[in-house]
Amino acid sequence: MSEVSLRHITKTYRGGTRAVSDFNLEVVDEEFLVFVGPSGCGKSTLLRLIAGLENADEGDIYIDGVRVNDMAPDERDIAMVFQNYALYPHMSVYENMAFALRLQSVESAEIDRLVRETADLLEISDVLERKPKDLSGGQRQRVAMGRAIVRSPRVFLMDEPLSNLDPQLRGQLRSLISRLHAQLGTTFIYVTHDQIEAMTLASRIVVMKEGVIQQVGAPQEVYDNPANTFVARFIGSPAMNIIEADVVEGALVIEGIRCELPAVLSKRDDGKVLVGVRPERVDARVADGLQVSGDGDGGARDVVKLDGHVDVCEPMGAHTLVHCRCGEKDIQAFVRVGSIESGQAVRVTFNVSDMHFFDYKTGEAL
Ligand code: ADP
Repeated sequence: MSEVSLRHITKTYRGGTRAVSDFNLEVVDEEFLVFVGPSGCGKSTLLRLIAGLENADEGDIYIDGVRVNDMAPDERDIAMVFQNYALYPHMSVYENMAFALRLQSVESAEIDRLVRETADLLEISDVLERKPKDLSGGQRQRVAMGRAIVRSPRVFLMDEPLSNLDPQLRGQLRSLISRLHAQLGTTFIYVTHDQIEAMTLASRIVVMKEGVIQQVGAPQEVYDNPANTFVARFIGSPAMNIIEADVVEGALVIEGIRCELPAVLSKRDDGKVLVGVRPERVDARVADGLQVSGDGDGGARDVVKLDGHVDVCEPMGAHTLVHCRCGEKDIQAFVRVGSIESGQAVRVTFNVSDMHFFDYKTGEAL
């Protein structure tokens, strides 16, 4: 069992920065919880509060039902892995991993078993005698994780552990961390500003902004149903298109195009709303005069068709991301490689059924 409960946590640093505001969250046993949000939104502060490296001004932290606010970090039985490894430079990999166990007076045969088993798990058995300076960044981070794992803590806290690594290594270690979580069956709380890392690792993500939770949910749930425009833009790459539209006399009007009013808007008075549509749900085709290739659905009321031109093309390998300018709107779409060039006239199409709707003033999902 390792549940963490955060109740009404507030933390303001000297100087007046409020890093975390009335934060409430129940971390479930064995889950992989990821705090994600832009830099400065309070993610690391939360981890440090759970670890006991900072004190909360208000609120209570419980681990397995026991209030730990006044417990020292080493009494909390949790391990933290940082971005910058923090290995002892004069010790071998083996000794780095064995160190905490020696402090706990674990027998040397048991230490040896634990270190070797963990090194196997992390695929670093062949570098046990090396010093940290003779390791690659990826190996150093594995050792840092190994040091945490040998202690069998109740909870693993990881603060941007992959952000110093190059993209390929990051991918490899990401899968390793996933496997570790499955094998160890321990609660993981992980911090990242990288939404792809959050989506791929988490069983639940907590999207944060300025010390306040924006949404908590399974990654796909958050992607499919973002709670507000902040989450809609932050989760998913490239970001969701968010454009202004009007509700006018029972119709949804985008750039002068009238289409059917979706049920979710049926009770709204006339006025502005924000419409979100993911680039992967937008179709963009070259428009040759009035002829649009593949145009066959006439004037369907559940489809929006906007004419414009391509501002920028960004080839991404498997497909190309195009930035289209349609009247006042900028809309991004994925297209087949080579099918569209910058400056070309395009017709941009998307379905009402793929739209997300947000309140114009608050940005909250409707
Ligand atoms: P994140 O991990 O999301 O990047 P942090 O938790 O590190 O965010 O920081 C949240 C806010 O608190 C930021 O505005 C940051 O500048 C501020 N902050 C963090 N640590 C301190 C500190 N020791 N003293 C003063 N302000 C701090």
